[in-house]
Amino acid sequence: MERFYCPECNRTYPIHPILWRCRCGSPLDLLFLPQFLKKKILHRDSTLWRYREALPIKEDQVIVSLGEGMTPLEEMTFDHRPVWIKIDYLFPTGSYKDRGAAVLVSKVKELGIRKVVEDSSGNAGAAIAAYCAKAGIGCEVYVPQSTSPEKLVQIQMYGARLKRVAGSREKTASVTMKAAQKTYYASHCWNPYFLQGTKTFAFEVWEQMGWMAPDTVILPVGHGTLLLGAYLGFKELKEAKKIKKIPKLIGIQSSACAPIYLGWTRGLTSSPAIEKKETMAEGIAISEPVRGKQILKAIRDTEGEVLTVTEREIKTALHEMGRRGHFIEPTAAATVAGIKKYLKKKGQNEIVVSTLTGAGLKATEKMTHLITP
Ligand SMILES: *Cc1c(COP(=O)(O)O)cnc(C)c1O
Ligand SMILES: [Zn+2]
Repeated sequence: MERFYCPECNRTYPIHPILWRCRCGSPLDLLFLPQFLKKKILHRDSTLWRYREALPIKEDQVIVSLGEGMTPLEEMTFDHRPVWIKIDYLFPTGSYKDRGAAVLVSKVKELGIRKVVEDSSGNAGAAIAAYCAKAGIGCEVYVPQSTSPEKLVQIQMYGARLKRVAGSREKTASVTMKAAQKTYYASHCWNPYFLQGTKTFAFEVWEQMGWMAPDTVILPVGHGTLLLGAYLGFKELKEAKKIKKIPKLIGIQSSACAPIYLGWTRGLTSSPAIEKKETMAEGIAISEPVRGKQILKAIRDTEGEVLTVTEREIKTALHEMGRRGHFIEPTAAATVAGIKKYLKKKGQNEIVVSTLTGAGLKATEKMTHLITP
C-alpha cells in the first residue's frame, strides 16, 4: 500500500486528500514500490505510461493522458563533445511539467476529487489546467503578475480560473496555501505525485540509452521538480538493480536567483534566504524552493554540483539553439548555457544527458526585444 512519508521526521501517513504537508512542516514523499518489466514496457505505446508498473496509479481507467512522454533524445555537439538532449518542450502543453501533471491529475481522478488549486509561475499551471480539462476536474491557478502573457492565455484557454496575485512568486504561494486548506492542493512543488511523474525522465533516458544510465545529467533548478524526479527515478532503477550507479546530477540556476547554488557552495543543508533579481529565466526564478533540503542532498549524494549562468549567457544560448532549429523559452536556454559551462571544465569522458524544458512560443513577448530588425 502507498503511504505518505516525511523525509524530515520519518512520520508516515495514509494517503489523505487534504494532507499536503507533514505535521513538522516538511513536504511529503510517497512510499511506493515500483516494478520494471522490460517485456511489457516494449509492447506499450510510446508514452510515459509504458512504465505502468512503476507509476502509483491503481486502475488504467483513471489515467488522464494527452499522449505525453517518450520525447526524442537528440545527440548534439557542444565544443566538439556529444551531449544527449531530451526534447521535453515537445510535451502537449509545451513543457516537461506534463510529466508531473499527468500522474498527479490521474491520482486526483482516482481519489474522486472534483476541484483543485495550484500556484505557478506559468508552465506548471498550464500543465495542471490542461490535464484537469481533459479529466473534467475544476482548476484554479494562482499566478504572480509577472508571468508571461502567453502562459496566462494558455491556462485560461484550458478553462481554468486564473487568479492573479500582485507581488512576488512567494506571495502567490502563501495566498494559494490558504485556498489549499479547503481545496485539493495540486502543487507541483508540494505534492509528491508530481515527482512520481517527473521521475519518468530517468526511465526514458534509461531505455533510450539502451537500458543504461548516463554518467552525468544536467538539469535546471527552480523548485527542483525535474531534478528530484530524475533522482527518484534513477534511485528506483538502481534499487531494482536495473542500473549500477545514479548519475551525477548537475543543477543549473540563474545567477540572479541562486539559493541552491549558495547553499551548495557554503556547504549548507538547506537553502538560504537570498535577494532575488530580475532574470529572463522566469521558470527557475524561485528564491524559496520548497524542497531545498532534498535538492541539496540529491546533488551531494550523486557527487554532482551546481552552476549559475548569467543573463548574457542565457541570451547567447537562446540564439544558438534557435540556429540549431530549437525555439525554446529563456528558462530552457539557461540549462543550455549550463551545459556549455560544465563542459568547459569537466565531462571529458563522461556520457552527458540534459534537456530542453520549455517551448519558445511560451514567451515570445519577452523575447521580442532580442530580435534585431
Ligand atoms: C518549471 C520549469 C523549470 C524548472 O523546474 P523546477 O521544478 O522549478 O526546478 C525549468 N524550465 C521550464 C521551462 C520550466 O517550466
Ligand atoms: Zn515531518
